[in-house]
Amino acid sequence: MDQFERLSQLPLRDDLRGRHPYGAPQLDVPILLNVNENTFGVPLDAKEAILKAVADELDGLNRYPDREFTELRRALAAYLGHGLTEENIWAANGSNEVLQQLLQAFGGPGRSVMGFPPTYSMYPLLASGTGTDYVAGTRDGDFGLSAGSAAAQVRRQAPNVVLLCSPNNPTGTALGLDVVEAVYEAGEASKAIVIVDEAYAEFSHTGTPSALTLLEGRPRLVVSRTMSKAFALAGARVGYLASAPEVADAIRLVRLPYHLSAITQATAVAALRNSDSLLANVEAIKVQRDRIVTELEALGLTPAPSDSNFVFFGGLQSPQAVWEGLLAAGVLVRDVGIPGHLRVTAGTEAETTAFLDGLRTILAR
Ligand SMILES: *Cc1c(COP(=O)(O)O)cnc(C)c1O
Repeated sequence: MDQFERLSQLPLRDDLRGRHPYGAPQLDVPILLNVNENTFGVPLDAKEAILKAVADELDGLNRYPDREFTELRRALAAYLGHGLTEENIWAANGSNEVLQQLLQAFGGPGRSVMGFPPTYSMYPLLASGTGTDYVAGTRDGDFGLSAGSAAAQVRRQAPNVVLLCSPNNPTGTALGLDVVEAVYEAGEASKAIVIVDEAYAEFSHTGTPSALTLLEGRPRLVVSRTMSKAFALAGARVGYLASAPEVADAIRLVRLPYHLSAITQATAVAALRNSDSLLANVEAIKVQRDRIVTELEALGLTPAPSDSNFVFFGGLQSPQAVWEGLLAAGVLVRDVGIPGHLRVTAGTEAETTAFLDGLRTILAR
């Protein structure tokens, strides 16, 4: 009996039967460009500050941490700006947990959440985990999403929650704020919570506005962010949201008490105090991102415009063969299951060069 058959013998919830867990491969490969991490790592001064902050916490580790993580919320509000205060902030163990908590509070059995695939592969999984129906909207050609189309679909489906991902994963492209405004208005009838997942906002081209600018006067709008990407802290598990204060009050009804460990809180606060240092490599990553787009075009491929730290590109006859060829060359990229396409994270200059050289060699065969 294999593991899947053994699982099916358990009294698993009916709606989870036959489902597959999130599964980006975690392989031991020299160059990891598959899950959009910041490959520069944590700079020395930030590392030292985090180490000291964590050491200072150890004396109190016999006590539960601040359930309200007030210092962290204050630091996150100060980082975001836009006149936000700690009342507007909630945080959890990665923005995945923030999104899960939002669905626990605003989704659930008999309710629906709408997303627009291809988009973040966790959305349907978070929906199924919380017993929320996942409604898949459709995009325009070239994976775009116009305000008119998105709003019409939201009006028709009347979901309880809408997930907009901007810049979108896996395509990398940011949405215009007109899309967010139109979806928010269209969600008025179903009182939809509109979540804009801005996990990659720090990598956007200069002048790309954030949905944070729309929060004022929109109590159903939520902007989700993370420290996993630009801040190079994927391993620390810190995500957060900005919204009207009552959204955080709703989450307080479903969160586990003390869900953010003292170590996590100390790490995140120290990181935010050193945000200049941690974010110093964002510009270098954007340079590599733009370089990938230019060089892929020169190879006759079709990269999507990217406001993130990764590039989604098409024009491949066999993505699987290219994925395997790159793996053999020591470079792990992501096959997101879209015909003809792959996704690659922009890494350091050397990592990007290894990817481009490997790809050129494979395509020349
Ligand atoms: C990486 C990513 C996240 C971040 O998840 P964390 O749980 O904060 O690590 C959120 N949304 C999208 C679209 C992502 O690609």
